[in-house]
Amino acid sequence: MIRKTRLFTPGPTPLLPAAQFAMAAADIHHRTAEFRALYTRVLAQLKEFVGTKNDVIILSSSGTGAMEAAVSNLTSPGDRVLVLTAGKFGERWSALAKAFGCAVDVVSAPYGQTFSIDEVKAALKLETRVVFMQATETSTGVRHCTPAVAKLIKDTNSEALLVVDAITGLGTSHLDMDGWGVDVLIGGSQKSVMIPPGLSYLAVSDKAWDRMEASYNPRYYFDLRKERKNARLGESAYTPAVALIAALGAALNYIAGQAATTEKPEGDLAAGRKMLVENAETISAMTRAAVLAMGMTLFAPDAPSSAATAVLPPAGVDSGLFVKELKSRFGAIITNGQGEMKGQIFRIAHLGFFDYMDTIALIGALEQVVVKSLPQLNIPFGAGLVAAQKLYANRSQTAAADAKCICGRTDACCSLQNPGFGAASKA
Ligand SMILES: *Cc1c(COP(=O)(O)O)cnc(C)c1O
Repeated sequence: MIRKTRLFTPGPTPLLPAAQFAMAAADIHHRTAEFRALYTRVLAQLKEFVGTKNDVIILSSSGTGAMEAAVSNLTSPGDRVLVLTAGKFGERWSALAKAFGCAVDVVSAPYGQTFSIDEVKAALKLETRVVFMQATETSTGVRHCTPAVAKLIKDTNSEALLVVDAITGLGTSHLDMDGWGVDVLIGGSQKSVMIPPGLSYLAVSDKAWDRMEASYNPRYYFDLRKERKNARLGESAYTPAVALIAALGAALNYIAGQAATTEKPEGDLAAGRKMLVENAETISAMTRAAVLAMGMTLFAPDAPSSAATAVLPPAGVDSGLFVKELKSRFGAIITNGQGEMKGQIFRIAHLGFFDYMDTIALIGALEQVVVKSLPQLNIPFGAGLVAAQKLYANRSQTAAADAKCICGRTDACCSLQNPGFGAASKA
């Protein structure tokens, strides 16, 4: 049998062919009218994709560069900040804030869970200058409740800025930056926007731009004010990743085009983003149903993200078995757990350029691994596929008309994340 290599990893994700072609053709200099037209268009599209009125800045770095920029531009040495963490990427916020001399308070939850909003409330002090969190914690497959944290900051009249790493949250969950009052929302290129690693982007609120004037941690390459000044002229401060910016433009065209109508053949980015989110919600729900039907359990059952599903294999089975077998037999690349979670869980991504067909194929391959390598489970062929098929059929029948809460969280946050959805499902 031949094997086609397919990425099911939560970054990098599969590449959109149109974006790859755009990259190959992007042989342009960054101080020309041609580039300025491209950059200006992509920045405007990105704003629509994020769904904000705030300025969006693009950096030529992986996602962590934008995280560092948020810390270095918004804090001063000695600032008290609050980090909400339940995984490897939350821990990165703590490490970054410490590296820039902040006094770091932490609210944490065990891996696989999300933190309690009551604990966040107790930890939010008068002096707290910034709150850092993830929208979705990719290392554990958890969805945190961004709107609840934003509401808490607003309700307590806190001066704190809310900085959200939405690197895997964007394009997989509903995020209303302006409506909720998020100050910085961070994205990365190798996630939902279907292009290679190398770009990060941040949407920044007026309150955060003001804070930058008074904060004095060192920054040079990642000086956001300098980038904004240049972006307004259609340029970046230094040589940008021109090819990736062209790819991003093509990918955003594609996302908009998913919502094309006869009146609007070029589509619409807000509607396209909504379809992309619904796509991730649906294929993640299919995956969760399938792994449960195959005798496995979810690592984050109460607050699963649609970006990636973290799966606990049956007791006594190393999760590396799934990583190895899927790759060697089917060319499917999934990820093991990060750090001390290695061997404990495996993760399957749903963000970006994945569809129903990819999902069904991966579930079929997972069944082959379970039936052959774990015969003691007595799982018959079809167990996972039937569960996924039924979920898909029911979801597509009801999705449009009957607005059910689809975010997968089992608590009140569901309705906060999906306005209009939760209310209908409760009624
Ligand atoms: C991928 C990812 C990042 C960024 O990692 P880089 O390797 O620097 O691109 C940050 N946060 C989350 C939640 C991620 O999934």
